[in-house]
Amino acid sequence: MSYCTECGTRLELRYLEKEGMIPWCEKCKAWRFPAFSTAISTMVYNPAGQKILLIKQYGRDRNILVAGYINKGEGAEHALAREVQEEMGLKVTACIFNMSEYFEKSNTLMLNFASIVDSDNLSGMTPEVDFAAWYTPGEAREAITHDSLAEKFLLNWLSKRETYDHTYDTYTFL
Ligand SMILES: [Zn+2]
Repeated sequence: MSYCTECGTRLELRYLEKEGMIPWCEKCKAWRFPAFSTAISTMVYNPAGQKILLIKQYGRDRNILVAGYINKGEGAEHALAREVQEEMGLKVTACIFNMSEYFEKSNTLMLNFASIVDSDNLSGMTPEVDFAAWYTPGEAREAITHDSLAEKFLLNWLSKRETYDHTYDTYTFL
């Protein structure tokens, strides 16, 4: 970013304590931190907590996780529930944070969660999704697009726990 998003003045890099070199607008007298998007992605579990949902989208033959951008003013858990509802017609009942990673290609910070929905029924899927199916953790490991961020999130999660534990007390219930 080289120009102020508020006034259009060319930004200069200045040293900010504990932050390093940060763009500064001399006219606004304000720091202009580099902007990026934030999105969620999620391993969606069926109500029994034994199967994980993978989908195919955008005409590509690749299994991915349900994902979507977080709107301005929206919390990550809310965005997750909204995306799962919009894409799959499923209601999320609980979720838990897994890990995050910055995705350079789309300048997006991806926040990955595991979540659980209240039905196995995939008939409420929107036409935006080409294909969706439930997989056991072992099947999901094989079917997920390899060398993708989705695979990294999935494997990280499965290395911690294979199934969704309803009783685990740090889940956020929605
Ligand atoms: Zn400015």
